[in-house]
Amino acid sequence: MDQLQQPQGEESPVSALSGVGPKLEQALAKLGIVQIKDLLFHLPYRYQDRTSSVPIGSIASGESVLITGAIVEVEESTQYGRRTLTVDIADDSGSMRMRLFHYSQRQRDWLRRAKWIRCYGEVRVTRSGVEMIHPEFTPFDYPPAPPKDQRLTPIYGLTEGISQAQMRKLVTSALRYFDNREIPELLPQATLRKYQFPGLKESLREVHTPPVEFRRLDMSNVLPEAIRRLIVEELVSFQIARRQQKRLRQMATAPAMQPTSDLSKRLRDSLSFEPTKSQIEVIRQIISDLRQSTPMLRLVQGDVGSGKTLVAAAAAAWVVDSKFQVAVMAPTELLAEQHLKTFYEWFAPLGVEVVLLTGKATATVRRQVERKMKSQQSIVAVGTHALFQEGVEFGNLGLIVIDEQHRFGVDQRFALREKGVANDKVPHQLVMTATPIPRTLAMTFYSDLDVSSITELPPGRIAVNTQIYGSDKRKYVIDQVDKLCSRGQQAYWVCPIIEKSEVLDVESAVEAEKYVKQMLPERRVALIHGRVKVDRRDKIMNDFRNGKIDILVATTVIEVGVDVPNAGMMVIESAERLGLAQLHQLRGRVGRGAQQANCILVYRGNLSEMARKRLKAIRETTDGFKIAEQDLLLRGAGELLGTRQTGAQIFRIAEFPRDRDLLEDVIETADLMLDQNHELIDRIVHRWTPREGQYSAV
Ligand code: ADP
Ligand code: MG
Repeated sequence: MDQLQQPQGEESPVSALSGVGPKLEQALAKLGIVQIKDLLFHLPYRYQDRTSSVPIGSIASGESVLITGAIVEVEESTQYGRRTLTVDIADDSGSMRMRLFHYSQRQRDWLRRAKWIRCYGEVRVTRSGVEMIHPEFTPFDYPPAPPKDQRLTPIYGLTEGISQAQMRKLVTSALRYFDNREIPELLPQATLRKYQFPGLKESLREVHTPPVEFRRLDMSNVLPEAIRRLIVEELVSFQIARRQQKRLRQMATAPAMQPTSDLSKRLRDSLSFEPTKSQIEVIRQIISDLRQSTPMLRLVQGDVGSGKTLVAAAAAAWVVDSKFQVAVMAPTELLAEQHLKTFYEWFAPLGVEVVLLTGKATATVRRQVERKMKSQQSIVAVGTHALFQEGVEFGNLGLIVIDEQHRFGVDQRFALREKGVANDKVPHQLVMTATPIPRTLAMTFYSDLDVSSITELPPGRIAVNTQIYGSDKRKYVIDQVDKLCSRGQQAYWVCPIIEKSEVLDVESAVEAEKYVKQMLPERRVALIHGRVKVDRRDKIMNDFRNGKIDILVATTVIEVGVDVPNAGMMVIESAERLGLAQLHQLRGRVGRGAQQANCILVYRGNLSEMARKRLKAIRETTDGFKIAEQDLLLRGAGELLGTRQTGAQIFRIAEFPRDRDLLEDVIETADLMLDQNHELIDRIVHRWTPREGQYSAV
């Protein structure tokens, strides 16, 4: 049979399975499950092990386990006005307590009568011992037989209207449905042969009804073949989708930029410093893109302080000189205002108009700015996402610059792309980030972008010296800050959130300001956070820039972009709560001048093993690329790519950093398919992403 022909029944809708009515069908559709075969590709995201009981004495906090034991005592009490049932359970190795807050009288009486119990749930080890709160449980009058399950229990992603048990049943039916039907292999024969992968159907069956060896997938370097096969296929599909996106972009037309004068040269001559080799090289790459009528989509990675603003300005000069408009988008108003200032200083003497548009603009200013944008005037418009809100139109947009792109949400980046597509010509795009992503990840997630890296810092920079102290050493830290101010330098004092929260015991910036003021009454201290009014914030920032403030207490609003060279110290409280990339960004606010700068990380309480590792990593490296690698290893890809906040799961089965060693094979296979198997390409992409835009998270 021709491999490309649809075998009979492969396309059958889920409603062909018994028990699937219109309601369930609708719920399944929300998960992208429309056909029976989609159920097979709805892979479990984790497994539970109910195949054997674990000795109570051996369980660690946080584990989910099955235990079997004798009921020692059942007690009902009222705590904080809440009825509680506690059941003490023991086996040969130790004892534990089960707690129930919601239970029926029947359940209580049953537990009182019973002699034995089996529970499955998450364990907490507290000061009073081992505990399970609301586990699943079954009481017995006699010692229960060993568990019947021989395989792990898969746990699936669900949506309203479907239970875990229902989903398991559906998947089982789907597997049975495909007993005598084919699921076509879409990977090239060469790949299947080369890796001797097991068949697709066999692999899917194994993943849905996993043997006990699948228990610790995250830990193992030796993945079961069935899993490896599916990972490779998913990553190949992802890779192909990105490259198709790139091809699609390349089919669009952008205005080819042809300068009408020597603006670029004049900008360069006016600089007070010499651009680094790296800056020059990246600018050269950008200009060579801008000359083309293919839309540029270039990512510039450059560590904090590497001078990305100049690169953006050089690109802007080229475009403005070609009589097109430039939009520069920053993630915060603070940064937008700073960019306005920098661009104004560079461009105003050259006769180029720079305007600002943020959410806080008054109606009059807004109208004025919008009129200019709508005109054909070649201006540089700096702003926040307000630049791309509805109603804002550009008459002649040639280039969009997105600074600190990792700070933008998915939706904003999308809205922006839409804006470009409105005309028949699309603008060029330059995306800048100080949070580099490790090369392996870039090969996956940025394979539809061209990437340039600024690999050196401007000369004369001295690496920031980083120290770590417990909060009991605050007085010492204050003394350091005081000494620094005596030398005429300035300091940042950063606290992660602005008000006391009962849940998160985080230092509040408001209190920190009080503390600093009280300890250093002679110093000029100011407070800045997201809720300080714009006018006031502008004034504070300006005063800080002009040396009228010694110590700026702030939340992480100053995390990105802020550039005050005379600031020589960065104190970060509750540093253990921040990610490596974020700490690195904050630290990057200092060390911009010629003097040795310091960063002091202050942590509270006892550090966990993980937190200790992270703080040590940040102390020992100042290279943003290495820090990103560490972040990936310590916290996984979701954090780095910013998808964790949105809760979007990127992959069904692949996972980084675990699977990065597979990438080279994946790229090779994707290349092979893109070259040869055009018919298979759409099918493999559709198989893994039946819903449009599922991979748009990045
Ligand atoms: P980032 O890459 O973090 O955005 P900036 O563009 O804010 O860095 O630049 C950091 C500082 O370095 C600024 O004060 C800028 O004027 C300065 N700078 C940029 N390029 C050079 C250079 N080639 N030589 C000296 N200073 C530079
Ligand atoms: Mg910057």
